[in-house]
Amino acid sequence: MSILTYKLRHNRDFATELQKATRVANYSLKHRKCRTTKDVKHIGLKACIANQILKKYGSNKKLKNVASVKLTINGYFVKVDKEKKEIEIPSLKLKLNYLFPNEFTKVNQVELDHKYIYISVQIPDKPQIQVDHYLGVDRNTTGHCAVCAIPKTGKVYKLGKKAFHIHRKYKKIRQHLQKANAKQMLKKIRKREKNIIKDINHKVARKIIEIAKENNCGIKLEKLGGIRDSKGAKNRKINKNGESFKSSINNWEFYQLQQFIEYKSKICGMPVLYIDPHYTSQKCSRCGLIGNRNGKKFSCPHCGHVDHADSNAAFNIAAFEFQEKSLSNDQLITDRDVIKGSTDTPQLETQQPMRAVA
Ligand SMILES: [Zn+2]
Repeated sequence: MSILTYKLRHNRDFATELQKATRVANYSLKHRKCRTTKDVKHIGLKACIANQILKKYGSNKKLKNVASVKLTINGYFVKVDKEKKEIEIPSLKLKLNYLFPNEFTKVNQVELDHKYIYISVQIPDKPQIQVDHYLGVDRNTTGHCAVCAIPKTGKVYKLGKKAFHIHRKYKKIRQHLQKANAKQMLKKIRKREKNIIKDINHKVARKIIEIAKENNCGIKLEKLGGIRDSKGAKNRKINKNGESFKSSINNWEFYQLQQFIEYKSKICGMPVLYIDPHYTSQKCSRCGLIGNRNGKKFSCPHCGHVDHADSNAAFNIAAFEFQEKSLSNDQLITDRDVIKGSTDTPQLETQQPMRAVA
């Protein structure tokens, strides 16, 4: 099961309610013993909304006050008419038509701010589609965008080129603001940049799913290490390009893209596999031996193969002898031993077609 959140404009003025919601949240932060809607009745926010806000903020010991709070309504208090594609929140006297697909089983929660309503719904996962080949997704080293390659057809897709320009543009703005010591503005700009990238990531993920559907293939991604435990230097892992996770600003973005790909593919039953990224950038995707990577260019001294470095890596990822995401390292090695008899000889995918040079 997956949870998806859809964002719609509500075209209503909820300023009064939003103010009340912020007051409820701040009241609960100040009065630690405030636990029930009775305690905040004097503020005058509908009990079902106040209740959700108390749940969210009442137990928060770190926060001292909040500037703005969304109106939060439990799905239980939301009515849905799937035939009319209409959602109704009686406590706010709000009725809205939605455009997103009816594939959800229930509404989990609804949140509102000044402009938008965020509807979180539960979506059952589809049974996994049977596939006989995979596409590989690699990050583009010249920007954030991804490179997608399908060994079976030899096709390469370069996606999300816009991200590169966004980063360049915002880097300049950030440097400018840093010089001027405009901290508030800097924060705002960082947030805006993040949002734009998030949007691009959603689009790129959607495109990758589309490509996989068209080719009836699964998706292989590189396993990113250390993204969750990058706090200490001890845990800091080096990625395949030899840079630490902290120093590479693009890592969380690529991680976000992977997350989007994963949940979107789950919904349509597309298999996603994670592979060990070791050697995916150094190995030649044609002969399997180690070649030379020089910036954007990859060349193989053994077979003469020349390719864009990112495409070469994406082909390697796609053709990788896969490892199930959930398996531990020990299991991986044993499993591969069973299948291939050996883990230390690089294996070529049988009958890999020759492909046009990208
Ligand atoms: Zn080669």
